[in-house]
Amino acid sequence: MLSLYFDNENKNEYFFVNNEWFSYPIGRSFIDLISVDFAKRDLSDESAIKTNPLLALFKDYMLINEIKQSNIDFIKTIVNYKIATDYVLNMDNEDFNSLEINTRFYAYQELFNNPLSGTNTVISHIPKPSNVTEIDKATSVIDETLPSEKDIVKKYKNCKFNLIEVYFVTTLEEALYLSFMKMVSSKVMVKKCKCCDKYFIPEGRIDTEYCNRIAPNSKKTCIEIGAMKKYHEKSNNNPILKEFQKEYKKMNARVRLKKITQAGFYKWSESARELRELALKSNWDEFKFIEELNKLEV
Ligand SMILES: [Zn+2]
Repeated sequence: MLSLYFDNENKNEYFFVNNEWFSYPIGRSFIDLISVDFAKRDLSDESAIKTNPLLALFKDYMLINEIKQSNIDFIKTIVNYKIATDYVLNMDNEDFNSLEINTRFYAYQELFNNPLSGTNTVISHIPKPSNVTEIDKATSVIDETLPSEKDIVKKYKNCKFNLIEVYFVTTLEEALYLSFMKMVSSKVMVKKCKCCDKYFIPEGRIDTEYCNRIAPNSKKTCIEIGAMKKYHEKSNNNPILKEFQKEYKKMNARVRLKKITQAGFYKWSESARELRELALKSNWDEFKFIEELNKLEV
């Protein structure tokens, strides 16, 4: 059994499982789970699985080795949610992105004849303090007598609560359904990472193209790889940046061949960078830039 808590106002979800609390932005665990390629048994995302509270529901699959032998129904469910995510939540789905999110959900249901099974989960609501100090102040007043209506109103005058929705779920299918529908109703959209091709929920800038997972076969995150790629694309299109790159590599090679010292290289690269900024700012052509670059002492 797992309790799922949604704080709609702050777009957060909480899980209480095995006496431990997990707190994530709404949809994060769902997206991480459907991003694992169970069909290919590619479990390079072991860390994402281990910290995913949704899997606690899945007794038979709690151990990584057992997930590797996961059955076909489980894979079918995951695939269904991947498709649903693409049609309803994916900002990069060009056709469906022209529709409003609830309309997308309706259109998706018509297209696929509603393959997502619902839930019989009972919902309850808990008010969660949002300004704790005021509530502490109010509740610390010890009053033995029964408060009147007026007393109660006065006591809680400055208090604010968020209404938390609580669901107690027993199967993974229920949890996936609830998480997915919560993303739809909270309008939490996703994108497909241009590096690892997995869904992610953009945080901060909406035009982010990369997720912050560790990229496949790399120690760097997709964002870091994306930034490098962008820099290279930019420098390939800009003659000044291209020349700078070329010269930088040449100098770097000289350090390795011990023709110049590390300190000498450092000093050169500082001046070369300054020159590069000046060249970009003053719209030099690459010939003038090379000429000036050659004048730098090494
Ligand atoms: Zn990625």
